[in-house]
Amino acid sequence: MRVEGYRLHRWGGELVWETFELPDPGPEEALIQVEACGIGLTVLNCIRGDLADERAALPRVPGHEIVGRVVAVGNGVTGLTPGQRVMVYFYLSCGTCLACRSGRDSLCRNLAGWVGVHRDGGYAPYAVLPARNLLPLPESIPAAQATAIPDAIATPLHVCKTRAQIRPGDRVVVIGAGGGVGIHMVQMARLFGAEVVGLEAYEEKFDLIREAGGIPVLSRDFAQVDLRPAWGEERPTVVIDLVGTPASLTWAMNALGPGGRMVVLTTFREVTFPADPRQMVFRELTLLGSRYASKAELIEAAELVARGMIRPVVTQVVPPGEVETVHQALRSGTLKGRGAVVWSA
Ligand SMILES: [Zn+2]
Repeated sequence: MRVEGYRLHRWGGELVWETFELPDPGPEEALIQVEACGIGLTVLNCIRGDLADERAALPRVPGHEIVGRVVAVGNGVTGLTPGQRVMVYFYLSCGTCLACRSGRDSLCRNLAGWVGVHRDGGYAPYAVLPARNLLPLPESIPAAQATAIPDAIATPLHVCKTRAQIRPGDRVVVIGAGGGVGIHMVQMARLFGAEVVGLEAYEEKFDLIREAGGIPVLSRDFAQVDLRPAWGEERPTVVIDLVGTPASLTWAMNALGPGGRMVVLTTFREVTFPADPRQMVFRELTLLGSRYASKAELIEAAELVARGMIRPVVTQVVPPGEVETVHQALRSGTLKGRGAVVWSA
């Protein structure tokens, strides 16, 4: 079938709005009609070629936070029927290696890349994807809101539940709390029983952080960050860094109290930070990397939204043809929470 959508012809280049041919779904694949696709910093990183930049993967339809409906399935697909509502798992995991079979899909040993990088994604009205990447999505959640689930909400669930194991009594700092993952991280850490401070460089996002249950603190300059109005002399037990600069990483490690855990999610090539073994031993610190989420966590994240326990924060919803306005807001750091493009809903 012929579709009209956005494609990338050069990593780091401009998106091109064009008509192109979509293949029929092959074995183990399904064709979905895209209801909506989330727009966040990770999509910009994908477009820039940060995750992978092989020329062979071009042209490419970006966008991985996809919700939609199954239209047709290829040979050998079971468990999916036309009309079924689905959300898309970001990683092109194999489904058969030990990591996949033990429910740690994001650590797949045979990872074939990412949706929107190595397979066409949700910046077009239809997509053909591996059937194993399609997970059930409840009917009750509106499309634009639902785009936050497969990454912006599932990733915080993985951090709070599986990695940092947050529990009542924890004092959690989220660095970059007003962004798409950050604002849901604040909500999730609250849901797991923690007190939460949200560090944010833009005061316009403070109300959003309060609504999510966090205490906003300005972090334009990390040397000036002051947690005392929130917690007095008590130090955080968990710091979750979504900014990934030498300044934010160094602040995170220094800020932690005894027994503290630091969670790292955002990385940039060649950005490192000094870790002081003496401080790590004296305070018995734990440094945790966290990589996306499992398929089970995506399904659980959808359940939390369906039950009203996590509220998707998708503040800028645009029709096809206007994704660049959301990209601009992301680049300038002014987008509150997530954006989304709605194709059909
Ligand atoms: Zn695997």
